[in-house]
Amino acid sequence: MNQINPALERILVSEEEISQRVIELADQISEDFKDVKRLYIVGILKGAFIFMADLTRKLSIPHVVDFMALSSYGKSTESGAVRILMDLREPIENQHVLIVEDIVDTGQTLQYLNRILMGRNPASLHTCALVRKVGQSVNIPVDYLGFDIPDVWVVGYGLDYADKFRTLPYVAELKRDSF
Ligand code: 5GP
Repeated sequence: MNQINPALERILVSEEEISQRVIELADQISEDFKDVKRLYIVGILKGAFIFMADLTRKLSIPHVVDFMALSSYGKSTESGAVRILMDLREPIENQHVLIVEDIVDTGQTLQYLNRILMGRNPASLHTCALVRKVGQSVNIPVDYLGFDIPDVWVVGYGLDYADKFRTLPYVAELKRDSF
């Protein structure tokens, strides 16, 4: 398939690369958590829903899925203020928790989530992200990372621009004049 949507600049991570990497990440997570009773997996809406669905279906360990929705006040806010729009269904005290994010840009969202969820006393807290942009302003480690990508606006595989392009099977750079 050579034709891509004219609003897109180029494909950064192909469908094949994603599915291969999802299997590798799921294998790694399954190995690392093979001794826990169950892994409590927290997907961050909306962007992580496709990654979450593919990743969890490749796990070979007991797990439950839950979701959080956050609203960000935008890059311009120094504080990186983030608000919880929808919270988890269960307390996570003494649970082994894995956060699944679509993308780490500045790292503020992940840092905020880490702080909030650590405050609920989980047995452990780890992070997984499909893509991470280079040059983050917040130095937050990602335990399970799909791909490093350039600092451009990307869409597809759950990621949107104005709620469009989410269901593209790949991650692509949006053309500047499409904003
Ligand atoms: P951070 O807090 O790491 O700066 O930003 C994380 C959030 O910003 C992501 O969860 C996502 O909602 C949004 N975001 C940052 N960069 C992009 C991008 O290139 N494409 C899309 N679709 N969302 C992005």
